[in-house]
Amino acid sequence: ELVGGVHPVKDLDHARHWLDLVSRRARGGIAIRRRAVVVGGGYIGVEMAEAMVQRGFSTTLLTRSAVMSSLDSDMSERVRETVQAGGVDVITNTTIADIDIDSVDGHVRSVTGSNGQVYPTDVVVLGLGVHPATELGVAAGLPIGERGGYLPNERQEVAEGVWAAGDCCEVIDRIRGKYVLAPLGTHANKQGRICGYNTVGGSHEFPGVLGTAITRFVSAGTHVEVARTGLGSREATEAGYDVESLVTVGGTASGYMPERSPIATKIIADRRTRRLLGVQIVGGAQSAKRIDTAAAVLWGEMSVDDLAAMDLSYAPPFATVWEAIQLAARRLSDRM
Ligand SMILES: Cc1cc2nc3c(=O)[nH]c(=O)nc-3n(C[C@H](O)[C@H](O)[C@H](O)COP(=O)(O)OP(=O)(O)OC[C@H]3O[C@@H](n4cnc5c(N)ncnc54)[C@H](O)[C@@H]3O)c2cc1C
Repeated sequence: ELVGGVHPVKDLDHARHWLDLVSRRARGGIAIRRRAVVVGGGYIGVEMAEAMVQRGFSTTLLTRSAVMSSLDSDMSERVRETVQAGGVDVITNTTIADIDIDSVDGHVRSVTGSNGQVYPTDVVVLGLGVHPATELGVAAGLPIGERGGYLPNERQEVAEGVWAAGDCCEVIDRIRGKYVLAPLGTHANKQGRICGYNTVGGSHEFPGVLGTAITRFVSAGTHVEVARTGLGSREATEAGYDVESLVTVGGTASGYMPERSPIATKIIADRRTRRLLGVQIVGGAQSAKRIDTAAAVLWGEMSVDDLAAMDLSYAPPFATVWEAIQLAARRLSDRM
């Protein structure tokens, strides 16, 4: 707890605190704690907003740009609409200007946004992103990257005899061939194994990342899943690609299946080489994990035509005959 009622979401102790707080609230133990402001609209902010609203907190999500700003704006807008429909008051393009603390009981009373609005609240969740913890390495004179992380080589070595893994490291983006920050458990696990092998004489290599990530928000009859891999339109343009993209809306199952839910797929490719550059998904139940097919195509540096042509599975409960991301690839392939 930073100050009464204001907490980050960083480690297991924070998680235990939040679970205890929201569970007691759910059991009616804390009548007074009924409003929450979640600051930060990334994965953790959205997941915490889900946790709070599901347990009966009147929840406001405050974010300095868009909800899930790692997506293109046309896709993140779909997420915002659904989170809002799920009962969260979403305030975009607003930073936190002030936190008002009660001088008597030391507990938070309200949050003021940069829009001048005051949001009365009982608890504040801070999900503001992470910064590599490299103080130890800085003190030792190790090189640090533009984004504040260690710069390991492919063997995860940051200096002779010194290895690093996980959130403290920058990682190589396979598409752009440059260091980026991608603090995820998927990379930390792989890098940890590689360090383990290499510290005892192995020569294992970390092959880089694509920026594949996934989350969901479920509340009050709404269910939205979100996933992305590769570059967004702006990143691809900045990297010098001749970007072509489109969004298709399809289904996760055949039209007559009751379990069918909508799936919006954005697909991004390079006009010159026809190489697939990125895919983003916003949809209902069973939609997001389809991103892994796109990640495999990106990993193999294949084209939209390859994705449109490949042999993917189909039966009515699981997909449409043209699987959703394959449909997007076919349409983009036709357009290019
Ligand atoms: C709320 C939340 C949800 C997440 N959800 C996902 C998800 O769904 N999917 C996903 O892929 N990733 C997710 N992540 C990210 C994932 O948890 C991290 O990328 C991963 O834990 C990083 O592993 P790590 O070992 O580098 O760091 P950590 O797990 O943070 O472990 C670092 C450890 O080092 C210790 N330490 C720090 N400094 C020192 C020191 N000087 N001496 C000794 N010990 C020290 C710390 O106490 C800590 O125990 C989530 C993160 C959060 C916070």
